[in-house]
Amino acid sequence: MAIDLVTRREWGARQPRGAYGRLSSTRGVKVHYTGGQVSPDIVGDHARCVALVRSIQNHHMDGNGWIDVGYSLLACPHRKVFEGRGPNHLPAANGSGLNSGHYAVLGLVGSTGFTQPTDDILHGILDAVEYLRDKGGAGDEIKGHRDGYSTDCPGGPLYAWVKRGAPRPGGGPTDPPEPHPSFPGRVLKYPPVMVGEDVRTWQRQMRRRGWGIDVDGLYGEASRDACRAFQREKGLSATGAVNRATWQATWEEPVT
Ligand SMILES: [Zn+2]
Ligand SMILES: [Zn+2]
Repeated sequence: MAIDLVTRREWGARQPRGAYGRLSSTRGVKVHYTGGQVSPDIVGDHARCVALVRSIQNHHMDGNGWIDVGYSLLACPHRKVFEGRGPNHLPAANGSGLNSGHYAVLGLVGSTGFTQPTDDILHGILDAVEYLRDKGGAGDEIKGHRDGYSTDCPGGPLYAWVKRGAPRPGGGPTDPPEPHPSFPGRVLKYPPVMVGEDVRTWQRQMRRRGWGIDVDGLYGEASRDACRAFQREKGLSATGAVNRATWQATWEEPVT
């Protein structure tokens, strides 16, 4: 599907205050999010996307003092892509010294409210990436703003997708589900303390998800408590024991 571009005229962009730096190519693209509250109502109302993009431009020009919105392109939940600075122009959003290396593409998800990128927003981001490759000499890399810069951007869910290699949603032969270790066949539980590589594998994945437990291969009180809290968070029955469903959720559920 071709990119569904919202031109600057269409979204009522202000004129840039100065000339852009020129870029003939980049190593790739960095993905961003808004980092604030985005109302979940945006999903049903494209007019909210337009208003949000305009407010981002105002913030960048009036708050940050930039010549224009900092992003190259901005993707909304309706698989539309707003023109920012566009291809061959230096973005401003990646952080000082990091803008000539990558174009900057924003997904209109927030840190609160609308936080889980929908399939259409992911498609929109990838439509933007392909457009920048085609028109702006963008290389293969797709990274997050936080790669090489101290920031939470692009947020947990969007960054997890970037780390998976930014696949097109919806599967297909080129997009197999991410493999993860299969359930070991025994339920991990306490007491008594259980020992094993399967425990270590589960603990390592919990650490990756941000849980502060030791990766020591010992399923004791701390593992049980983390398991129980994780099960509650995911709406699983809070037994504190890693059964097949909990094991799979540890890999398959989005990190929140
Ligand atoms: Zn960012
Ligand atoms: Zn929209």
